[in-house]
This record gives sequence, C-alpha cells and structure tokens, in this order.
Amino acid sequence: MLEKIIQLDKSFYMNTFGDRTPLVFEKGSGIELTDSKGDVYKDFFAGIAVNALGHSHPKLVSALRNQIENLIHTSSVYYIKNQALLAEKLCMKTCFDKVFFANTGAEANEGAIKLARKYFYNQGKDKYEIITLNKSFHGRTITTATATGQEKYKTPYAPLTPGFIHVDANDIEGLKKSLSKNTCAIMVELIQGESGVRPLDESFVKEIRKICDDEDIIFIVDEVQTGIGRCGKLFAYELYGVEPDIITCAKALGGGVPIGAVLAKDFVADSFKPGDHGTTFGGNPLSCRAGLATLEIIDEEKLIENASEMGDYFMNKLSESIGEYASEVRGKGLMIGIELKKNNAKEICKELMNKKYLVGAVGDSVLRIVPPLIITKEDIDGIVNTLKNILKGDN
Ligand SMILES: *Cc1c(COP(=O)(O)O)cnc(C)c1O
Repeated sequence: MLEKIIQLDKSFYMNTFGDRTPLVFEKGSGIELTDSKGDVYKDFFAGIAVNALGHSHPKLVSALRNQIENLIHTSSVYYIKNQALLAEKLCMKTCFDKVFFANTGAEANEGAIKLARKYFYNQGKDKYEIITLNKSFHGRTITTATATGQEKYKTPYAPLTPGFIHVDANDIEGLKKSLSKNTCAIMVELIQGESGVRPLDESFVKEIRKICDDEDIIFIVDEVQTGIGRCGKLFAYELYGVEPDIITCAKALGGGVPIGAVLAKDFVADSFKPGDHGTTFGGNPLSCRAGLATLEIIDEEKLIENASEMGDYFMNKLSESIGEYASEVRGKGLMIGIELKKNNAKEICKELMNKKYLVGAVGDSVLRIVPPLIITKEDIDGIVNTLKNILKGDN
C-alpha cells in the first residue's frame, strides 16, 4: 500500500514536495494518527499547526456531517448564514469590526495587502510600499511570495510584485530607514513560524504600532499560524499588548477544513467597495460551519487556557530535560522551537518518528513543535522523555 502510493505520487504528482516522510495515514483520533501499516503515531505537528482540536473531533465531525447533508456551497451572490455568524463571532472575540473570508493563508494575506493599498488609493494618496521582515513567510502566490523575506521562495518567479521592502526583525532603526512617503503598510508575523519559531521583541512590535500611528501607515499582522489559540491567546497580538489594523488567519480556523480570514478595523475595512474583492469558495456554508464548530469547541474545552498552561509546562520541561542539547527553547503557548546545538534536526525528527512521535524540522537545527491544543501533561512527558533519550544516545 505505502509503496504503491509513493509510486503513484512519483508518477503523477508534481514534484513540489520532494521525498516526503514515507507515511500514509488512514485514520486520526485525538492526537493519534494511524498509518497504512496500523502503526499509531502521536502527532505534535498537527498538519502544520492546523488540527487544533486534534483529529476528527466528534463534535466537529457531527457539525460537518450535518452541514454536508444540508448545504455545501451557494456562492456569496446570496447571503450565507454561517458566514454571517462566523464573522460576528470573530469580531466579538477580537478588536476588529469586519471580516472577509478566503480559503487559505496566502489568499487572506493577498486580501489584506489589497485592502491596505485600497485604503490609500481611495484617498488619492501614492502610498503603496509594504514593509515586511527578513525570514518571514506569508504564502506562495506571487505577491505573498514577494512579501515573504526568503529569496528561495521567489527568485524563479520574477518579475515580482513591485513595492515590497524587507528589513530585519527587531531592528527598529533599519525599519525607520526604510520608511518613505510611499509607505502603505508594515506587515509582520509576531512569531515567525516557517523560519524556525522566532518571536518578535515586544518593544519592536510596540514601536511598529507607534510608527504606524504617527506616519499614517496600516499595521498588518499575519496570524495565519499564531492565531486561533495556538500561542495561549485567541490571537498573538493580545500577548503583545497592541491592536493591529488588520490581521489574517487561516490554518487552525476550520479545524482542518480550508478557510482563511481577513479581520480589519472599520476605518480600513470600509475601503473595499462592492466589486473590489471577491472569491468563489471563500466563506461557504461548509468552511464557515467548520470555523463556528472549531471556535465553539475551543471555548467549551477551554483549549486556549490549555495551550497557555501546557505551553509553559512543555517549555519548562524541555529546558530542564534537554537544555544541555539545545542552544535555545523558544516560542509562546504551543508554538515551540528547539534550536539544537548540533545541526541534526532532520535526523532527530526521523528518530522521533521511529519512536512514533511526529514533529517538524526547520532548516538544519530547529525542531518545530505545534501540537493540537488538546494535549495533556502525560503527552508532553512522553515526547520529552523520548527526545531526551534520543539526544543522550546521539551524544
Ligand atoms: C502557512 C502560512 C501562510 C500560508 O498559508 P497557506 O494556507 O499555505 O496559503 C502564510 N503566513 C503564515 C505565517 C503561515 O504560517
């Protein structure tokens, strides 16, 4: 079975993922995934920070089953109940006034960038430059790849979207130097996920907020990965004590069903006029039902509180148990990066897989741990002890 799937993939799927981890999963439940051989893995990767509720949470499953039986898609030509309800819910839980639904993180970011540019276009101002950070990740469309501060994602696709400038994270002087009369927006991840779980300094983020206020610039925070409870708050901006003008979210919002969102304050949200932006699938009855169910379950099971408590427990336990093998254990809530002293993250990741634990590796030296928000101390003790034994044996 596994060999057959790999062979089909090699023959018929575009080779964008190279040699993937050689596992095919057939069933998931809680934090466990069962593969085609019947082996059970504990999932501390959650499909890249997506499966916040774990796999096939019974309440999510029943909400989706009910929705599929009744209605999957109508288009936004009509009013959509679940879309309106989910928009209300997100606004009630945040400092934002209006929502637009997309299907993915990249698409949400495209929407945010368009919205910021439209805001100044409406005023007849020539403000279009977007400042983003080196080592950031904002998506794979041409514009979001341009926004992304990593050359490898964009070099082959030139000419890129004009008007993007990159500066170093936490370098406020560098940021100030890159401002001009054309600056439209500053867009950041508060914790850079794809480049190895790197939290921004609080002072840097507060200074960005101040610059945006003083210079009439839109502050966009990409919460595609940090959002929906991952970092111990519904959104990570709450941890930093600032209110952005626009945030984007996606990954965990649908509990595994694709959905993205742009959330904005009225003053900027109102810049979109009828016809300015749109989508066929975005905000359909099914994906919005997934979003509603996900947020309900997160509330009922107090998963944000759990992410915060388990995150602290996890990081303390890691520092205690494997501190000698790591140069840094960093992150917030259940978004954790372990910077290993040796450049062997990929091998360690593989050895963990052999012991039936799934985590991610970023580059050569960072282990990325983004488990479902339902994990317990027992789950954490299990992986930390296993990791400790692997690192001990390796030294
Ligand atoms: C994953 C991610 C994206 C892209 O989301 P897609 O759904 O893959 O388009 C954008 N920004 C951040 C911070 C991400 O982690």
